Amino acid sequence: MHMDAVEIRRALDANEFIPFFQPLVVLRTGQLAGFEVLARWQHHTRGLIPPNDFIPSAEKEGWIDELMDGILQKAFMIGASIPEHLTLSVNISPVQMNDMALPGKILSVSQQTGFAMDRIIVEITESGLMGHLESAQSIVSDLKAMGCKVALDDFGTGYSSLLHLHSLPFDDLKVDQSFVSSMKDRRESRKIVAAVIGLGQSLGLTTVGEGVETQEQAEMLLWMGCEIGQGWLFGRPVPAAKLPDVMAILRPK
Ligand code: C2E
Ligand code: CA
Ligand code: CA
Ligand code: CA
Repeated sequence: MHMDAVEIRRALDANEFIPFFQPLVVLRTGQLAGFEVLARWQHHTRGLIPPNDFIPSAEKEGWIDELMDGILQKAFMIGASIPEHLTLSVNISPVQMNDMALPGKILSVSQQTGFAMDRIIVEITESGLMGHLESAQSIVSDLKAMGCKVALDDFGTGYSSLLHLHSLPFDDLKVDQSFVSSMKDRRESRKIVAAVIGLGQSLGLTTVGEGVETQEQAEMLLWMGCEIGQGWLFGRPVPAAKLPDVMAILRPK
C-alpha cells in the first residue's frame, strides 16, 4: 500500500523512519563484511512499513533528501560503534543523482557521526544513471575522492548496463536477486550470473550476489567466483538492537 504525502510529512516530523541492517558475508569464509542499510517506517499505529510503500511518494514530494539524511544520521551513529572493518552500504535514490551537493551531504553526516568515509559503500541503481550520466559521473568521482566506495546495484535489470560499467569507476557489482533466485531452475539464469561475475572479475570489481536464500545458491555463486553474498540465508534486515546477535552468529574477524 502506498502511503499518502500528508502521512509521510507527519512521519518525517515525528522521526518515524529508521534504518534496518542486513548482513553482507564473505562467501568463502562465512565472515561478516558489513551491512546494507535499508529504510523502514516504524509507524505509530500500523507497525513496520517497507520502503517500496513510501520511497516513491517521498521522491515525488521532494523529501527524499530529508528522509535519507535522517536514515544516514541514525545508521552512521550506530555504525560508529560496530567493529572497524565492517562497512555500511547505503542506497541513493535515482532522483538524488542530479544533486551535485550529495557527496558533501554524505561527508557531513560522516563527520558528525564519526563513521569514516572509507567504511561507506554508496549503492546506485542503473535507473539513477539514466538520463543524467554526466552529473552521476561528477557525483561518483567526488564520492571516490572523499574515500567512499561505489556499487552498481541491481545489475542486469536496467538499460545499457555495459555503458555504465565502463563510464563510471565502480568498486562493487551487485547481481540482481531475480537472477540469483532463478539460478536453480533456469540454465539461462545460471549462465547469465556466471557471465556477470566473470565480467565483474575481469573489470576488477568485487561481485555481490543478492537474494541468496539457499545454501545451494551460495555454493553456486562461490563456485562461479562471486566474493560476497547477501540474503535471507545469512540474515534478514534487522533493527539496530539486533546487531549484536547477528555479529555473534556471523563470526566477525
Ligand atoms: P535493494 O537495494 O535491491 O535492497 C535489497 C532488497 O531485497 C531489500 O528489500 C531486502 O530486504 C530484500 N532482500 C534481501 N535479501 C533477500 C532474500 O534473500 N530474498 C528476498 N526475497 N528478498 C531479499 P527492502 O528492504 O524492502 O527494500 C526494497 C528497495 O527499497 C531496495 O532494494 C532499495 O531500492 C529501496 N530502499 C531501501 N532503503 C532505501 C533508502 O534508504 N533509500 C533509498 N533511496 N532506497 C531505499
Ligand atoms: Ca541496494
Ligand atoms: Ca539490489
Ligand atoms: Ca532491488
